[in-house]
Amino acid sequence: METATSRLGEVKARIVATETETGRESGAVSLVAVSKTFDAEAIRPILDAGQRLFGENRVQEAEGKWPDLKAAFPDVELHLIGPLQSNKAANAVALFDVIETIDRDKIARAIAEEMKKQGRHPRLYVQVNIGSESQKAGIEPTEAVAFVERCRQTYDLRIEGLMCIPPIGENPGPYFALLHKLAREAGVEKLSMGMSADYETAIRFGATSVRVGSAIFGGR
Ligand SMILES: *Cc1c(COP(=O)(O)O)cnc(C)c1O
Repeated sequence: METATSRLGEVKARIVATETETGRESGAVSLVAVSKTFDAEAIRPILDAGQRLFGENRVQEAEGKWPDLKAAFPDVELHLIGPLQSNKAANAVALFDVIETIDRDKIARAIAEEMKKQGRHPRLYVQVNIGSESQKAGIEPTEAVAFVERCRQTYDLRIEGLMCIPPIGENPGPYFALLHKLAREAGVEKLSMGMSADYETAIRFGATSVRVGSAIFGGR
């Protein structure tokens, strides 16, 4: 019978196979298991199987399940991958280890203030609205490089990478290639791109981490 644990094994094997195929070092690509909508009971077997990087898209939902799980597994690394409101900046800085969705000045400023106040320093990515879709969060591709620079200069934030979600139903390759190009121009190393349907493609275009939910936990 297929379980989340067996699907986790399958995803990890495919990541390794794609690393090998593209001539990248084994372990070059991190797997962020996206546990949104799944409760602690569903997440525990994945923790027991050794997975430590997890992604959640809502601050409040994560606050309901992760404090206890983090107490039990202190080496967990929790990624915020959903849009962030500035009134949630304090909570996000307190709980998350990586915030992947910095996408406007107001958020950059709020996160910088909270990091100072709390003395806690989650690692940060800038989200790029790679297909310039009106319904999606993220900075416009044409503004991304300048925004990363502004995060550094104006807000004293170290940006580690870029994150994107390509438009649904389109060939994601060109969008992944564009994110890679923007990262080079902005001088950042990490690329968070690729989900259940396209993580192998993302790895071929240089992803350093992939965010995989339903291919591990099942349909939502
Ligand atoms: C839900 C989500 C994912 C995972 O999506 P799957 O298709 O279930 O793998 C990845 N990234 C973000 C930003 C998400 O919101």
